[in-house]
Amino acid sequence: MEASVKYSVVIPVYNEEEVLDACYRRVKDVMEQTGEAYEIIFVNDGSYDSTPQKLENLALLDRHVKWIDFSRNFGHQIAITAGMDAAAGEAVIVMDADLQDPPELILEMISKWKEGYDVVYAKRQKRQGETWFKKVTAALFYRLLQKLTDLEIPLDTGDFRLIDRKVCDVLKTLKEKNRFVRGIVTWVGFRQTAVEYVRDPRYAGETKYPLKKMLKLSIDAITSFSYKPLMIASYVGFALSSISFLYLLYVLYLRLFGHATVAGWASTVSIMLFFNGITLMMLGVMGQYIGRIYDESRNRPLYVVRRTMGFGRGQQKVTA
Ligand code: UDP
Ligand code: MG
Repeated sequence: MEASVKYSVVIPVYNEEEVLDACYRRVKDVMEQTGEAYEIIFVNDGSYDSTPQKLENLALLDRHVKWIDFSRNFGHQIAITAGMDAAAGEAVIVMDADLQDPPELILEMISKWKEGYDVVYAKRQKRQGETWFKKVTAALFYRLLQKLTDLEIPLDTGDFRLIDRKVCDVLKTLKEKNRFVRGIVTWVGFRQTAVEYVRDPRYAGETKYPLKKMLKLSIDAITSFSYKPLMIASYVGFALSSISFLYLLYVLYLRLFGHATVAGWASTVSIMLFFNGITLMMLGVMGQYIGRIYDESRNRPLYVVRRTMGFGRGQQKVTA
């Protein structure tokens, strides 16, 4: 019976006690409308509120509900990955728990999938109820990412999407550590299309993506798909050393032809500060890449599972 799951809905949750019940009910309503076998896989990403207890109850009450309990917080992108690893469906739908991604859109995605598309992603036409800071930084991020990468990662598109089994199987073979799942999904190719929607405000609770996590996600995205920051660093370095060489000639000229050379303390100090700043920045850019090489080479698993619940026999194995 378990083997013939048609749809898997993957939902990462991190301290989502306030939205979990509403999320479950709305997703279930939608999935029942499909009239086909489905599973709802929650990935508890190290919540420290009552989320795990709630998940346990849901799994006891409803055999469609399964959940994976991480040993700690591994982050949204990893949680999604674990859900996709465990999903058995012919199509896998990834969505947020906070109902910013309306579950009703899943039906539209499914009909596109049935037309023969392998990836159906949800593109935000508008975002409601989010701070102007989030909207501006998100808009800038997607555009910067497009400029920096050669990949056509769709603009204003989060992780809310449907992917076909064969895409999911390919994704499972890509084990990179600092992952940007949307980018990897674009990278694998296949037939992709979009459905548009208006992003609702969060149902309850607060965002689980503070600025620090947003920054980490954007740096992961850029470094995963582009060497351009390294190239820019070397171009800037080249330009600056050319300018400083010219300046050196000028200084030598002043010295050799007897002009006063004591004045100019301010310019010396500012040039020094400026160059040191640039050097540190470039070292930082390189450090970002080197750190990621280090992460890959250590070869640790992507996530650690404390336990799973609701998965059928033979499906219990959920390791990275
Ligand atoms: N999330 C997670 N781990 C984290 C942060 C977030 O699993 O470390 C989940 C969160 O529970 C939600 C989804 O990722 O289901 C998106 O988070 P959120 O809605 O807070 O992000 P935003 O919509 O504000 O960008
Ligand atoms: Mg949200």
